[in-house]
This record gives sequence, C-alpha cells and structure tokens, in this order.
Amino acid sequence: MSKKRVCIIGGVAGGASVAARIRRLDEHADIIMFEKGPHVSFSNCALPFYLSGMIDDSDKLVLMQPDTFLKRYHIDARVHHEVVKIDAEQQILHIKHVLTGEMIQEPYDTLYLSPGAKPIMPKNISGIEKDHVFSVRNVVDIKAIDSYIKEHDVKHAAVVGGGYIGLEIMENLKERGLEVTLIEAANQVMRPIDFDMVQIVHQEIVSKGVELVVGEAVCAIHNDHLLTNQGKSIQAEIVIMAIGVLPEVALAVDAGIKLGKTGAIEVDHNFKTNLKNIYAVGDAIEVHHALLHKTTRLTLAGPAQRQARAAADHLYGRVVKNKGFIGSSSVKVFDMNIASTGLNANQCLENDIRFDSVYIIASDKVSIIPDAKPMHLKLLYEVPTGKILGCQAVGKGDVVKRVDVAAAMITMDAHIDDLKDLELCYSPLFSTAKDPLNHAALVALNVINGEYKEVKVSEVRDLVSKGAFIMDVRESHEYEQGHIKGSHHIPMSVFRERLKDIPKDQPVYIHCRSGQRSYNVVRALMQLGYHDVYNISGSFLGISYYEYYMDQKLSRDPIVTQYNFN
Ligand code: FAD
Repeated sequence: MSKKRVCIIGGVAGGASVAARIRRLDEHADIIMFEKGPHVSFSNCALPFYLSGMIDDSDKLVLMQPDTFLKRYHIDARVHHEVVKIDAEQQILHIKHVLTGEMIQEPYDTLYLSPGAKPIMPKNISGIEKDHVFSVRNVVDIKAIDSYIKEHDVKHAAVVGGGYIGLEIMENLKERGLEVTLIEAANQVMRPIDFDMVQIVHQEIVSKGVELVVGEAVCAIHNDHLLTNQGKSIQAEIVIMAIGVLPEVALAVDAGIKLGKTGAIEVDHNFKTNLKNIYAVGDAIEVHHALLHKTTRLTLAGPAQRQARAAADHLYGRVVKNKGFIGSSSVKVFDMNIASTGLNANQCLENDIRFDSVYIIASDKVSIIPDAKPMHLKLLYEVPTGKILGCQAVGKGDVVKRVDVAAAMITMDAHIDDLKDLELCYSPLFSTAKDPLNHAALVALNVINGEYKEVKVSEVRDLVSKGAFIMDVRESHEYEQGHIKGSHHIPMSVFRERLKDIPKDQPVYIHCRSGQRSYNVVRALMQLGYHDVYNISGSFLGISYYEYYMDQKLSRDPIVTQYNFN
C-alpha cells in the first residue's frame, strides 16, 4: 500500500478527531492539519466558563499544542495557516500564512473539511461593527471579551440570543458580577425545549437577577446601550452576539462542492462530498435526521466527532453504519440543568407527526434525602404507536442522565412500553425505585390507553377564566402558601368524606403539588362514578412555573394567589 497524504482543513473538534483517528489506523500516513487560528484542539464548549473564572487560565482551554501533535502522533498541525483555495482537479491546496501573508501549496491524496460554522452577525443591525460587539467562536474571541471588560470597566452586558451559547455567556458574565440582559427575538430561550418546559428556565434566569427580554429583536447598537424593535433601550457597554451560526462553506463552494437544501455541505452515507477524495464533517455539513427522515443542520461536538471517526474509518475500508442523528444537548442555567433529545412539540407539528406528550414532576432521589430535588420531565411519543420521539428534562438534579437514557431508547426505536419496563440503577441517593423515566412511561401508557385523562399546564388559565371546577387536593398548610384563584380545596385526606362537594355533572380538574396525589384521587373518583375527571399535569408547581414569567412580562393578573416553587 502506498503512503497516503491526508490533509485536513480545520483543527478543532472534527478536524483533530479525523487526524487522531487516521493516525490510529495508519502509522505511515502523512497527516497535515491546517488551522487558520492560533490554536488547534481547543474546547469550544468550555469557552464561556473562562468569563466567570471557573476556568482560570485561557491556556487550559487549549487541549493540545501543535508540538504535542507532532511528538506524540506525528501529525503536522499548522496554526495560522488558512486554506484559501482547493484545486480539486489537481488535488492541491493553496494556503496562506495568516501572519506573514506567505502563500504555499500542498498536494493531497485525501482531503477532509471540518471548517465549522461562523457566528451570524446581521449587517442590518446598525452598530454591529462597533468595537464593543463580540461573538464567541474561539479562544481569541473569549480572551478579547475578557480584556475588553477589564480595560473598559464594563458594568452592563447585553447577550443577544438565548441558545445554549447565549445562556452560558449570560450566566458566566453574571457570575463575574456584571449586570446582564439577555435578549431573544423568539418568545422563548432554548428552542429545543418546549414552551411549557422552558418557563422553568425563564423563572430561573429572572430569579438570578438577569433581565430577560423575549420576543424583541435588537435593531441598533450604540456605545452604551442598544435598542430593540419594540423601542426598548437596554444599557450595555458590551454586547455579545449569539444568535446562531452559519456553516463555513465559501471555500467548499468555490471548489465545486455541492451544498444541500439546508445550505450546508451535502455528504453521502460515508461523509464524502460530491468531489473525488474529499470528505466533510462537523458544523459545516448537513446530516440525516433519524426521526424526521430528512436533512438538517446539527452544530454539536458529539456528532462532529462521530462523523470524523466514521469518515476516517471509511478511508481505510471499514464499514460505517450511518444511522443519522437525533439531536441531544444539555446546558446549565444557574442552578437548573436542562437537557433534551429527539423531537420537540414544534418539530412534530411542523412535520405533521401525530404525537402526544406527558409532563411529570418526580423527585430525582428518594424525597427524604436532603438534596433531593424535583425533576420536570416531558416525554413525547407518537400516536397511536407509542414510539418514543423526544424527551426534555429540567431540574437541579441529574436530569442529563434521564435524557441520555431516553436518547438511547430513541436510537433503538423503543416504545413507551419498553421504557416502562426499563431496569435502571437505583439507590436512594441516585434515584427512586421507579425512576422518573419509568414513571413518565407509565403515565404515557395510561393516557394512550385511555385509562385516565389529563389537561396540560398551558390549559389551566383558560379553565380558570371559564370558571371550571378545579379541585386542589393538597393539605391546608400547602394550600395557604398559594393556590389557584377560585379553586376548591378538598384535601386528599378527606375527599372521600366530601364527595357531596364534588360535582358529577361537570368536568372536575384535579391537582396537588406535583401530580402524584391528584392522579390517585382521579383514579378513585373514576371508580366512584365520576366520568369527567382530569389530572392537571404538572400540578401547582408546574402551574407556578408556567405562569410566573409570562405574568411578569405581560403584567397580567395572576391566576394564583401566590406562586410556589418549592
Ligand atoms: P470547529 O470546532 O469550530 O472547528 C473549525 C475550525 O476550522 C475553526 O477553528 C476554524 O478556524 C477552522 N477553519 C475554518 N476555515 C478554515 C480554513 N479555510 N483554513 C484553515 N482553518 C479553517 N457543542 C456541544 O455539543 N456541546 C456544547 O456544550 C457546546 N458548547 C459550545 C460553546 C461554544 C461557545 C461554541 C462556540 C460551540 C459549542 N458547541 C458545543 C459546538 C461545538 O463546539 C461544535 O459543534 C464543534 O466544535 C464543531 O466542530 P467542527 O470541527 O465542525 O468546527
């Protein structure tokens, strides 16, 4: 076998993974990795944590230096080298040294593209080019933000965009001691999470003293403030743009590489582009969505690394099983952990997928354990099959573990029946004997089998305005700490003696604190001749979260006497 000459464009998540994998497969190949920036192999995902000092030294963000690549792996990692042209016919790269301007050429046998994605910086926002407006893509960017804050004694920051990068920047700037405003044009942050679940995140953000502005787009940036399209003025001596990214495709397009419908590079089953001997991976490509059966863009590090390994394996004749991607992500927002996998409600609606969902609040550990915390978990499944489509969880405990398990189940095409029976680890410190996931599956099975009925937290306001019979089965001390206005207080401990107070000729909507007691009351009433009884999923805790932020934002009359987040 002749010695291979492999060139790689981009030296971070996808590029460095391609290089490392090829070296493991082929000790003899010449591997040259070109990176236009000053660092290869840095942790993009850890960049925001430098701003709060959690990562106290920017050098720690760089996981491996070029000389280590050379010494340990015999990989030629060249920083400050920008590939400016791909001559796919001759299989030659034209490369510019970014610092000296010197041009060189390098031939390749096989080329891998992993140039990533660039932050969107809309030209129509006036002032976007100002010196105090930043985006976050690499170590240079994060150090520049840090220096600017120090040198200009910045007190107020605006973060534009409520995706995971925006949220992490927001938290880390707040932790640093700045006054922070987060502005998001959509009506919610974290679009992978459904509107009902994300209200928990909204509450967390405002409770930690961040000004949250949703449903308003930034239209002008001035030196010490910015303006939204609703005329709101927000004080900010620094602005961080985090409204999304676009695949870095200019070089590929210039070389004749085909793009797909999403505007990212089209690749086949083995991550090969339409041009001979050229593969592409990472944020610059489009991937097959395993649930939607169509192409999509997925800018996440895990998929980039998987693609890199598969593309390298393919070069060496290893069979690659490309099953597509489902999109799993997690983020921490102050004390709340958030994770999601698979499809959310909007994706199901947009793609005409018949679905339903259940929302449960379960304890993440046995409730007598001192740090046990409520876990809000939403499970989406196909109707009528019960195939699991998505899962989202928010809470102070280990929500990521649950969503990871759901991701595994979705990947295996599992149904809610399978999840009900899934045998998971248990000890009081880690979970409950019936794990929240088992619990959610049982509720979903009850609903899909018509065993009992639920209404969602999003429907409660309407029920209140219609004067529906809402029954609160909590005990008196809980009721006194906040309840739905006009609700009927009939505690679970006495409801059997008070059946005369519960009407049979109209629907009865029942809730407790987090859903378990009300579910039991629903079952009992159904057996006592009540046919139109509903559990309010999420119960009072879910209602408090669902209503809180929108009440503040819309200055509307609350439907509760007092919110209770405990
Ligand atoms: P990158 O890792 O961005 O690497 C591309 C590199 O190519 C860049 O360094 C660029 O300079 C270089 N390049 C581009 N064009 C050329 C050229 N012509 N010549 C030479 N070099 C070139 N994902 C998660 O899954 N979880 C997270 O928590 C998470 N957090 C993130 C936080 C931040 C702040 C950022 C920015 C990203 C985060 N991501 C996260 C996304 C993740 O980092 C990306 O999905 C992943 O890095 C994509 O890998 P890539 O190789 O395609 O691109």
